[in-house]
Amino acid sequence: ANFSKKKTSEEISNNFMQRFSVCSPSSYRLNPITSMATRSGSLIWFRKGLRVHDNPALEFASKGSEFMYPVFVIDPHYMESDPSAFSPGSSRAGVNRIRFLLESLKDLDSSLKKLGSRLLVLKGEPGEVLFRCLQEWKVKRLCFEYDTDPYYQALDVKVKDYASSTGVEVFSPVSHTLFNPADVIEKNGGKPPLSYQSFLKIAGEPSCAKSELVMSYSSLPPFGDVGNLGISEVPSLEELGYRDDEQADWTPFRGGESEALKRLTKSISDKAWVANFEKPKGDPSAFLKPATTVMSPYLKKFGCLSSRYFYQCLQNIYKDVKKHTSPPVSLLGQLLWREFFYTTAFGTPNFDKMKGNRICKQIPWNEDHAMLAAWRDGKTGYPWIDAIMVQLLKWGWMHHLARHCVACFLTRGDLFIHWEQGRDVFERLLIDSDWAINNGNWMWLSCSSFFYQAQSPFFFSLYFIYNRIYSPISFGKKYDPDGKYIRHFLPVLKDMPKQYIYEPWTAPMSVQTKANCIVGKDYPKPMVLHDSASKECKRKMGEAYALNKKMDGKVDEENLRDLRRKLEKDEHEESKIRNQRPKLKL
Ligand code: FAD
Repeated sequence: ANFSKKKTSEEISNNFMQRFSVCSPSSYRLNPITSMATRSGSLIWFRKGLRVHDNPALEFASKGSEFMYPVFVIDPHYMESDPSAFSPGSSRAGVNRIRFLLESLKDLDSSLKKLGSRLLVLKGEPGEVLFRCLQEWKVKRLCFEYDTDPYYQALDVKVKDYASSTGVEVFSPVSHTLFNPADVIEKNGGKPPLSYQSFLKIAGEPSCAKSELVMSYSSLPPFGDVGNLGISEVPSLEELGYRDDEQADWTPFRGGESEALKRLTKSISDKAWVANFEKPKGDPSAFLKPATTVMSPYLKKFGCLSSRYFYQCLQNIYKDVKKHTSPPVSLLGQLLWREFFYTTAFGTPNFDKMKGNRICKQIPWNEDHAMLAAWRDGKTGYPWIDAIMVQLLKWGWMHHLARHCVACFLTRGDLFIHWEQGRDVFERLLIDSDWAINNGNWMWLSCSSFFYQAQSPFFFSLYFIYNRIYSPISFGKKYDPDGKYIRHFLPVLKDMPKQYIYEPWTAPMSVQTKANCIVGKDYPKPMVLHDSASKECKRKMGEAYALNKKMDGKVDEENLRDLRRKLEKDEHEESKIRNQRPKLKL
């Protein structure tokens, strides 16, 4: 399963073709019906990259074309309401992200209209719809942003095959990221760098650092005859089958390129703030004015903002100030984390799974649907954890450290549930949900990959990072002792006195009654006792790490089954001893 050097160089050359390919003359001859003479105009296929500024695919499509067809295909599977899903939304995405996407499409359509064009919205399976467009409109050029997500990697192979067999020129530039992940992998001898520092060293400075970006147009070519392919305007949520009452608690973050550029300008207008930005410092409980930029929904999921433009803006600020922070903690360093995860994900087969993923530790996680559902629905009984999960459900965005806390709680901290299950919940609900970054961070937080050891501050020795667990009580309290964040997202606790807000089960009944919140009735009791649960998790992680070490990374199903049995037996023995203790006292 290694990413061999040979495969990488093939990918590099494919990539080169994707960026600059013009179909060979022989492929034109494959299909005599669609000869060059009958083809004209170009089609820009928007997927991510929902922006006009710094969009090389749009730039190429518009150059020298008499007609340009700007297309977006609505995949009903991804966008139409699915009432059987655990939260309002489609079978794949929460309604917040769908709304964000529709707003982004509306904004793009309105920008294109100002330039003499418009967005042509079609519905259906994206590949099939695209083939029909290419056939019907007889365009000579197909342009779309290169995408490293497995879904697009598979789709794009089919699209390119079809295009080349029908004589359509394909232009697919790398513009979602600062670097081409394949280039970095090739520079590293065919394997993705697995540490941030080695990534920085290998990647160097991105070529976009100094290139001039096309930020606007005076006009765009008109589109030609669209035939009867069922073109529509950008639909509303209601048209996609969502009810009004599913839209009560919206994310405050609006989608679209205009909003992205406005937000960027505002975020970086305070040069001192940018220069001193340091993560992980920053308050995860700040929600009225978040401690970070909240650019991720614009950068990641839909490409409303160009990461290259963001990078250049930051560079310009750094030139203007005397001193600034550096990667990994600086704001520019955050953009490079994004690149790091994209590169690792692209070069690692089965990156989104534990099994068959060579960089992921094999850990015998528990299966417990009731516990998973309680975590997902913000009903763990730990207000800090529940408030974060409610922010995810309602807003689709939370601060990075808040994500740390809930991911740690679900996996190695308290519940010992598989990181893939937490990943799925995030993937559905986040408005910035991103395949590479989400999987990478879940592996990280569950101590399954990337980050296992740290220097002990006390003993000058290395210790495993799984021993460092976020407390669901004291971590949030450090930032927000009054519990404003909890009161906002969990109004049931709004009148709980501050000394009990992080542990309401410790409040005397008279206090609970006065606060209109009886624990166990109005708000759940803690689903586990953190001290014992986290101790148990550490023990399991220790055993799993020992097994991975012993097997030199080749842990199989049977090994995991054996370990699971042993852990269950140990747990059983432990609880027998625990149960005996009070009896002995008597
Ligand atoms: P800022 O701190 O303002 O950073 C600016 C930009 O840098 C961000 O917009 C983002 O593009 C990038 N960035 C920042 N932190 C990271 C990081 N750790 N990894 C990669 N890029 C980063 N981020 C996503 O975009 N999509 C996800 O699906 C996602 N899932 C996550 C899951 C878990 C379990 C955790 C712990 C983190 C996850 N993150 C994810 C990373 C991070 O939390 C968000 O990118 C960040 O909080 C976004 O807020 P911001 O735009 O204000 O970030």
